[in-house]
Amino acid sequence: MFWRRGRRDQAADEGRQEQPAGASPQPAAPPDAAPVASSAPPPGGTLDTSPGDAAASGSPRSAGLEPGPAAVPSTAPAQGDGQAEPSATIADGLQASRRGFMARLHGIFRGGAADEAAWEEAEETLIAGDVGARLAMDVVARARSRRDPAGPEAAVRAELERLLPAVPPGPWRPLRPDPSLPAVVLVVGVNGTGKTTSIAKIAARLAAQGDRVILAAADTFRAAAIEQLEAWAARLDLPLVAHKAGADPSAVVFDALDAAVARGADVVIVDTAGRLHTRHNLMEELAKIRRTIDKRLPGVTPEVLFVLDATTGQNGLAQAKAFHEATGLTGIVLTKLDSTAKGGIVFAIEQALGVPVVFAGVGERVGDLVDFQPASFVEALFA
Ligand code: GDP
Repeated sequence: MFWRRGRRDQAADEGRQEQPAGASPQPAAPPDAAPVASSAPPPGGTLDTSPGDAAASGSPRSAGLEPGPAAVPSTAPAQGDGQAEPSATIADGLQASRRGFMARLHGIFRGGAADEAAWEEAEETLIAGDVGARLAMDVVARARSRRDPAGPEAAVRAELERLLPAVPPGPWRPLRPDPSLPAVVLVVGVNGTGKTTSIAKIAARLAAQGDRVILAAADTFRAAAIEQLEAWAARLDLPLVAHKAGADPSAVVFDALDAAVARGADVVIVDTAGRLHTRHNLMEELAKIRRTIDKRLPGVTPEVLFVLDATTGQNGLAQAKAFHEATGLTGIVLTKLDSTAKGGIVFAIEQALGVPVVFAGVGERVGDLVDFQPASFVEALFA
C-alpha cells in the first residue's frame, strides 16, 4: 500500500512525531493487502504506511510514488485545474438541451393552445429528449387533464417538476451517522462515464468546504484507473491510499478506513471498478467492499453514488437499475449534461429509481459540478 499525503496532513504532522519508516500507524492490513511501496516519506509528500520493502515490491511507483508524465492517462486533469469553486451553472449545462428538444416543445405550444396533433408532437418531443416513451405518455396525459389556465407548456412543466424528488437545500453532504467516524462515499458506475473526474470534483468541493478528504483507489482492475486517481490526488493535493493493480479492492478500502480513523479524516471517497469479467464479479466485489466497511467501521452506512453519463440515455438507465438492485444507490451523479441535448434523462432516472440526482457534471474542469436542485433544473430547462 502507499499513502499520498495531502497538504493538510503535512501541516497536521508538523509538531507530531512521524512514524518511523516501515512502521504502520494503524492495525495491520488484511492478509490479502498487496503493498505497493514502503519507503519513508520522500520530500514529495508521499507517506507509506505499510510494512515491507519498496524494492522488493517491484512497483514502478515505489520510489517516487507520484505518477510520471508517461503514467498520467489522457483524462488526467489539465494544469491549473485545481479550483473547486463552481465555474459553470446548471443553465450552462443545459444549453444544448434548451436548444434541442426544449426549443421544439416551445415551438409546439407557441400559440398558447394545443390540439390533438400538438399533444402528440409534445409526447414525441419528450421521447426525443430521453424522457422515455412510457413516462412521456404519462406526462402528456396528466398535463392535458390539468386544463392548466397558464397553458399547455406550463402544464407539461408542472408535470415534469413533480417527478423530481425534493433534495435538501444547500450543498450536498455525505451521510455521517457518527460524527466521530468518517463518512464513506462509494462511487460506482461503468468505465468512461466520468467516474474518476466526478470523484475529483466532489473531493475538491468537500475539501474546499473544510473537510479532510481521503481518496481510495479501489478500482484495482485497471492500472490506468489507479494512475488517473493519483494524478488527480496530486493536482488537488489530497491524500490517496492505493495498492498495486490487481490487489484486492477491499484491502484498499480497509487501509483507507484505517488511515482515515488514524488521521481524523471526515470523508473517504472510494473509486470502484467499472467493469469486471462478469457483472456477477463486479457486484460481488462491491458487496465485499460494503462488508469491509461494516467490519471496520460498524454503523457507518456508506453513500453509494452512481455515476451516470447523460449522453448514454436509456442504456445508462438500464445500468443504473442493475447497480441499484445490487448495491442500493443513495444518489446519482449525472455527468456530461453539457454534452447532450437530451436532458430529459433526469426525469426518466427519478421515475425509474426514485434515487435523487445529487450532482450534475456540466464540463470537464474540476469546478464543473453543480449541486442538483430540481426547481433550478426545471427552471433552467424551460428558460
Ligand atoms: P471514468 O472512466 O468513468 O473514470 O471516466 P473519466 O473520469 O476518465 O472521464 C471520461 C471522460 O469524460 C473524460 O474525458 C472526462 O474529462 C469527461 N467528463 C467527465 N465528466 C464530464 C462532464 O461533466 N462533462 C464533460 N463534457 N465531460 C466530462
